[in-house]
Amino acid sequence: MTPQLCARLTRTDLVMTTRARVTLVSSQLRRAAIALALLGASACHGSSPHAAGAGPSPRGSKRTVIVLGFDGFARRYLDADSAPALHALARSGVTARGMIPSFPTITFPNFYALATGLYPDHSGIVNNRFFDPAHDSAFEYKKPVAHEAYWWGGEPIWVTATKQGAPAATMFWVGSDAPVGGVRPELWHSYDHAVQFSARVDTLLAWLDLPASQRPRLLMGYFEEPDMQGHRHGPDSPETHQAVLRVDSALAQLVSGLQARKLYESVDIVIVADHGMAQISPEQVVYLDDVVDSASVDVVTMAPNLSIRARDGDNDALLGKLRKLPHVTVWKKADVPARLHYGTSARITPIVAVTDPGWMIAWRHGKPLDLLGEHGYDNANPDMHALFLAHGPDFKAGTTIDDFPNIDVYDLLARLLGVTPAPNDGTLAPFAAVLR
Ligand SMILES: [Zn+2]
Repeated sequence: MTPQLCARLTRTDLVMTTRARVTLVSSQLRRAAIALALLGASACHGSSPHAAGAGPSPRGSKRTVIVLGFDGFARRYLDADSAPALHALARSGVTARGMIPSFPTITFPNFYALATGLYPDHSGIVNNRFFDPAHDSAFEYKKPVAHEAYWWGGEPIWVTATKQGAPAATMFWVGSDAPVGGVRPELWHSYDHAVQFSARVDTLLAWLDLPASQRPRLLMGYFEEPDMQGHRHGPDSPETHQAVLRVDSALAQLVSGLQARKLYESVDIVIVADHGMAQISPEQVVYLDDVVDSASVDVVTMAPNLSIRARDGDNDALLGKLRKLPHVTVWKKADVPARLHYGTSARITPIVAVTDPGWMIAWRHGKPLDLLGEHGYDNANPDMHALFLAHGPDFKAGTTIDDFPNIDVYDLLARLLGVTPAPNDGTLAPFAAVLR
């Protein structure tokens, strides 16, 4: 993907109604926001749920589950930063040593892997940008075309919940702008970068103030930091530290709001990130035009994940040229290592490559590298490992679990909600010792 564009959509992408957007304006207007959220419930209503109560829940749970997604929150930030709200949550909840993102370690594939339990190769969201031969159409994550349902495979947790009678609400989440399988969350907002983090939390809390008959049991909120600052200034910069504190403040606001409502001890909170962040430098760039003519190839994504095909169809010849590049590992799609679970989707280019940690690929005639942080590297790289925290009545306090793949989060959310998960690539096993 183009690195600096990690999940930044524009106002032109919005489909949110004016009335619903008013619910996001300010915390000072909370009372009004609650009233308007009630109205917004109809303005932003999803399509009708499918048959409710499909199968018994594993535990008959009626738990409310809140999921926060912090873009680009590397696991190691938790150790390096003060982040008081996150550490307080960890002390009385569950922390993972690291959550391993799916390959490629890019935003859209991973937030959707978290939501569906499917590897990107299986969900269809194989990168932030890709081409679908069946639809003769290009997915572009920041354009309205991404709101079409046909891109999004599997069953995201908000659909699973809705179909089984647990209302869901999304305050921005990758995939929730599309009616996946014909189902939208009961309440949802299309991504708007301009909405302050505090207003996003206000909206989540306002949804909890809805009458019981309308109140969601699954609430999901997305925050685009610390990814943006991590890209611009590097993972270890003061600016990224400040961005960590911004999302920490959002969590503190949520916890405070839950405590005021006497809900803090009765809801489950799960905090996830899509990937980590690695330091990069202008000195660590390899140039594609040193081995191939730019007119001879189609490049779908560039760095650190190169998605490329030969225009003349001779991908074997292209493979040979690309293998001359230093600091780059190149595969035919069928030969991507099994551990990366990547390479069967028709949406993946015939050749994929990934750079060594800290290295980038560029065109010599392209614009100079103006970033200091990047992700997209091999998911075995600890810098790519993501934050996972969980807290609530279903979790044993003060516990730690080993590294686990992020496709396991979907089964966890289904378990907490008491709904039956759709078929997926994940398992509950990583959480067996810490669930009550
Ligand atoms: Zn991201």
